[in-house]
Amino acid sequence: MSEYKVHIINTGKVRIEPELAFGGDHCSTPKAASFSIKKSPKISLPVNVFLLETLDKLILLDTGWDRSMSPNGVFDKKTQIKSLGSSLLYHVNQGVVPKGMTASEQVDKLGIKSSDIDYVVISHLDCDHADGLRQFKDAMVARSEYEYAKKHLYIRFKKKWWDGMDLNLYDWNDNQGPFGRSYDLLGDKSIELINIQGHTAE
Ligand SMILES: [Zn+2]
Repeated sequence: MSEYKVHIINTGKVRIEPELAFGGDHCSTPKAASFSIKKSPKISLPVNVFLLETLDKLILLDTGWDRSMSPNGVFDKKTQIKSLGSSLLYHVNQGVVPKGMTASEQVDKLGIKSSDIDYVVISHLDCDHADGLRQFKDAMVARSEYEYAKKHLYIRFKKKWWDGMDLNLYDWNDNQGPFGRSYDLLGDKSIELINIQGHTAE
């Protein structure tokens, strides 16, 4: 019998230009931000978070959208701009989280209090991963991701998504994965956070 249980939790959708997800290293910023004259049909992608249950730990990977993105469970331009604190990001991505589907609402439904989660780990600080941070009391993110976000405030990231939170920064302390950088979360090599580069600079 497996010692781990993984809950894949869908917390709504993000609608973007295909260029943003699939533009690769040569991603065109105007095209990805929907400012290009040559527009492609936008695509909707699921915004998923993952709750890992071990024998004695609860670990949440990413937080998805905050309820303030869609107070009524439907797409709402005005409240999205308010939730993210950026009208520029409205052009880059449009998010929606139906009623009952934020990470904390669904964790509640599983009978778990958000305060019982031992580690909230953020893979990177883009809005579809970090907007929902305020649903939880603290979270951890790689220092390299935090430094990258700090360098790109106003364009891609907003400090308000994590401002006032107890954000714990970790440094890579192991060498697993394709880039030889990982973090041994529990200190016993049972769970490794693997660094995968390309989407952010790190
Ligand atoms: Zn991202």
